[in-house]
Amino acid sequence: MISLVDLVAQYHSIKEEMDAAVLSTLETGHFILGSHVAKFEENVAAYLGAKHAVGLASGTDALIIALRALEIGAGDEVIIPAYTFFATAGAVMSVGAKPVVVDIDPQSYQIDASRIEAALTPQTRAIMPVHLYGHPSEMKAISEIARKHNLKVIEDNAQAFGAEYFGAKTGALGDVGCLSFFPTKNLGGYGDGGMAVTNDAALAERMRMLRAHGWKKKYYSEMLGYNSRLDALQAAVLQVKLPHVDEWNDKRRALAKRYNEALAPLGLITPIEREGAKHVYHLYVVRVEKRDALQAFLKEKGIASDVYYPIPPHLADPCRKFGYKVGDFPRAEKAAKETLALPLYPELTEAMQDAVIAAAREFVEK
Ligand SMILES: *Cc1c(COP(=O)(O)O)cnc(C)c1O
Repeated sequence: MISLVDLVAQYHSIKEEMDAAVLSTLETGHFILGSHVAKFEENVAAYLGAKHAVGLASGTDALIIALRALEIGAGDEVIIPAYTFFATAGAVMSVGAKPVVVDIDPQSYQIDASRIEAALTPQTRAIMPVHLYGHPSEMKAISEIARKHNLKVIEDNAQAFGAEYFGAKTGALGDVGCLSFFPTKNLGGYGDGGMAVTNDAALAERMRMLRAHGWKKKYYSEMLGYNSRLDALQAAVLQVKLPHVDEWNDKRRALAKRYNEALAPLGLITPIEREGAKHVYHLYVVRVEKRDALQAFLKEKGIASDVYYPIPPHLADPCRKFGYKVGDFPRAEKAAKETLALPLYPELTEAMQDAVIAAAREFVEK
């Protein structure tokens, strides 16, 4: 059986260091925020090239807290891509704002920046690009539109830790960058975790308040906040992994290149890298018309694959009230029918990858 990811294989590759870090955290008696979290925040900010980082309970919370810190809420609109994990739309709806959907570039799967301006209204407050699968969105065009129309940019960087855009790390390119440390992400903890990154000290301060009941001073709530704090154990785990993430992303890139070379000649549409983009392949996604048949065939051969995502957010039940319908965003809807993620993670061996390639070849030639 070849799985989509193998978190245990990664744990075994760093077991000694990881066990020591976890055990030493237990000895500190300090489990929520604290010095482990502060140190990890500093290190992530330095890694991304941002001034401030705020450790949170999840990537979804990072999106919500970024929106709240920017005072985006009822009556406001936020531009999101038509193809993403539902949390992007869900976060916008959670603060009472409306997600305004823009179709994607069908090759890179990123929001099509050339279609954003047509979707703006006087209520638009922010653009929320999602660096989907680990490929950076067109941040130059997006920042230009934001500047011109006085909008904020909130990057959903949940899938793109370590990705680069013309040499700069994604997540530090907008007003706020939102990270997820869900276990399967390129930098993943052993539980939920997230972070919001910014260069704006006042915004960072508001996000720190929002993560702990709106407190600046303990027990004195100054705004309606949340309980959304990164815990010390996750910070310790993530701190062990952070120095390895570049090497792991390089492995993902090397495996992706190998897949591309083998699968493109079979007629599968393989992922691309746009100019200036360094893709980190959180997911390795191919496109094929007979997607469901390929997925079933791979399953028979003991090879896992999955669809990210079968339902574009505008067609999800919670968005029904906005009146979106089938056909509104045909590129995203087509992607939802044709995309398939194949096994790819740093510990995947070339022999395992060859088995996936052989199965795909058998499918195409049968
Ligand atoms: C994983 C993910 C999130 C949410 O992160 P959680 O930590 O699971 O809450 C948001 N957006 C995208 C694109 C994601 O992939």
